Parts: sequence; structure tokens; C-alpha cells
Amino acid sequence: MFSLCRVCLSFFETGAAPAPKRCPACRSPRILTHPELKTLSIAHMDCDAFYASVEKRDHPEYRDLPLIVGGGTRGVVSTCCYIARIKGVRSAMPMFQALKLCPEAVVVKPRMAEYVAVSREIRAMMEALTPSIEPLSLDEALLDLTGTARLHGAPPAVLLAGLVRDMEAKLGITGSIGLSHNKFLAKIASDLDKPRGFSVIGVAETEAFLLPKSVSIIWGVGAATRAQLEKAGIRTIADLRRWDRVDLSVRFGSMGDRLWHLSRGLDTRRVSRDEPVKSISVDCH
Ligand SMILES: [Mg+2]
Repeated sequence: MFSLCRVCLSFFETGAAPAPKRCPACRSPRILTHPELKTLSIAHMDCDAFYASVEKRDHPEYRDLPLIVGGGTRGVVSTCCYIARIKGVRSAMPMFQALKLCPEAVVVKPRMAEYVAVSREIRAMMEALTPSIEPLSLDEALLDLTGTARLHGAPPAVLLAGLVRDMEAKLGITGSIGLSHNKFLAKIASDLDKPRGFSVIGVAETEAFLLPKSVSIIWGVGAATRAQLEKAGIRTIADLRRWDRVDLSVRFGSMGDRLWHLSRGLDTRRVSRDEPVKSISVDCH
């Protein structure tokens, strides 16, 4: 086993002993322990409620209030803070519905120029770790840290914990990390423990992790594909796994082959700088 302190960035081997509850160096309880912590190198960094976090940073008076970023009463919620989420408010929800759930919410208009500027600062911090960065939106990116341990003298997990620690200290913005062995799983992992999370999906646990999950966990499987799969009796990854590769391709075309691979945790796509940014206007998490 390997453990990492997310506060002082100490990295230590714990052998077969139970994971320490506190960091032996700084006594912080923010310890992450995983058998593959030294080797996994594909990560997804996702800021927590990005637009709302920038607004709270710049307006400390909103800090303890439910905050919604979005356009007017006829518009939709672009992002909401975690306090508003507790009340049931969600991204893309019509504003009137959000205000019914949370009438005391502070509503502010998005300041895109500001979010773009913060995004650039985060990007620069990521660039210091690796040239292999694939931004997915203003507030999230995939990073391939393979081979960077030699350059930086620390495993990828340490660099990633340092990245979010520095983002919080220098920019006042928190983020969550997903660390795994491919893009598909790294993206899933970052969502498991938000906000300020750091989740790991190792090679050894990939199958057990995936099997009970809904097919909707697969990137790109939206409502339409889900309905199509449901017609074939496929609801979970385990259901998908019972299908032969050829049968899946015959029934679902090129998507079928993709589903066959992803349901096995296989994803050979490389983290690529040239991938177009999919969205800059919707900030989901
Ligand atoms: Mg986000």
C-alpha cells in the first residue's frame, strides 16, 4: 500500500499495515491510501462548482449563502454552489424552478471573462506538470502524467494533490481529482468524491467497480442511447458484459464496439491537446 498526505504531500509506503488515519509527518487526516497510488498516471481534474466558486471568491459576502450563477428569471441555472445543491438546485434547471426550491438564493449573472481568466491560470499550473493536457471545458481537463515522476521526483498522485492544493491556496478555487489508468475511468473517478475529492480507480479494482454501475456512467451514453440499450435489456455494465463483441456491433454499430471496450474498462484513447473543447458555456459540476 501507498499513502499520500493531501496537505503536506508526504508520500510513504505503508506495507501490509492498515492505512494510517493521520499523516505521520503533519498529523493531517487528509490521507489517501491505495495499492496503485505510485503507478497510476492518467487523471481528470474538475473544479468544484467553478463559476459559483469564482463568484464566492470575489464576493466573500456570498460565502455562506446559496449562490446560483445564471441568467435572469427566465433563464437556466448555469452553476450553483453546494449549499444550493443541498436544496435540490442543479445545473441546467430553469431558474424559476431553482428559485422555488431555494427562494433565498443569491442569483448572479455569469462573468465569462473572469472565468476564462481563472481557467488560464489553472491551465498554466497544469502545464508546469505535463504537456499532455486535454481541456474538456473551462473548468476540467484530462492530464497524462506518465513518465513525469522522473522529471518531478514524485509520483503523479503527489503532483495532482499539489495542483489542487495550489489552486486552492493561490486562486481560491477548489477542484476534485480522479486518478486511474485511462481517460474513461479518470473522468468517472473525479466525480466520486466531490467537492475537494481525490478518487482512485486502480487496474485491479476496475472490473468490480464497473459491473454494478448503470450504463449511463459511460461517457457519451445519453438519454437516447440509454433508451436504445434498455430495449435490448441492457441497464448495467454487467448486462453489457454478457453481450458478444460482434453482436454489440451488429446491433449498435460503431457505438457497440466502444461499449464492449468501455464495459471492460478498456480505453486506449490518448490524452490529446488537439481535442476540441466541447463546451465553454455549461459548467456542470
Ligand atoms: Mg466542474
